[in-house]
Amino acid sequence: MHDLTGGVTRFQRDVFPGKADLFARLTHVHAPHTLFIGCSDARVVPELITGSEPGELFVIRTAGNLVPAHGLSADGVAASIEYAVDVLGVSDVVVCGHSGCGAMTALAEGQDLSTTPAIAAWLRHADAARARCTTSDVAALVHSNVIAQLANLSTHPSIARALTHGEVALHGWVFDIATGRIDQLDAPDTPAARAA
Ligand SMILES: [Zn+2]
Repeated sequence: MHDLTGGVTRFQRDVFPGKADLFARLTHVHAPHTLFIGCSDARVVPELITGSEPGELFVIRTAGNLVPAHGLSADGVAASIEYAVDVLGVSDVVVCGHSGCGAMTALAEGQDLSTTPAIAAWLRHADAARARCTTSDVAALVHSNVIAQLANLSTHPSIARALTHGEVALHGWVFDIATGRIDQLDAPDTPAARAA
């Protein structure tokens, strides 16, 4: 196993002391300003790419940064969205896709996913992204997928309610691994744009 315990030791020795006051404050306060929904991809680290400190981002990471539309079954993503918006009162929600996304590559290339049925089923949440994408270009699908997931996001009652009252703004981003650049997308036909 990779030496995670060595990393923990370095954190406790080199990092934590400099943030001791922050962590002391955070002992009693959990008030993130942003819900960040990103891909589980190990190369896309929300706090790093946004320069955020502990306590600032409420993070959901899923394969392909997919957000299932609101439904009636128990759903960890839905529960986390509701908690961030209704309980914690975040003011902004970011859906962040990224270059070289494995999930989007699988879809764009039409890869055979029959031996990975859970992945195949999960990626159905990107059907709308695929439908609106006229090429097999991965970058185009990454972009289209962020827009589609913003639309899915707005079907959640907590988000719909907050948008109606002007209490939350939705943002679509694409992070480029090679350059560190973040493109902020327009979402012309989603509530995100209307709320902006
Ligand atoms: Zn990804």
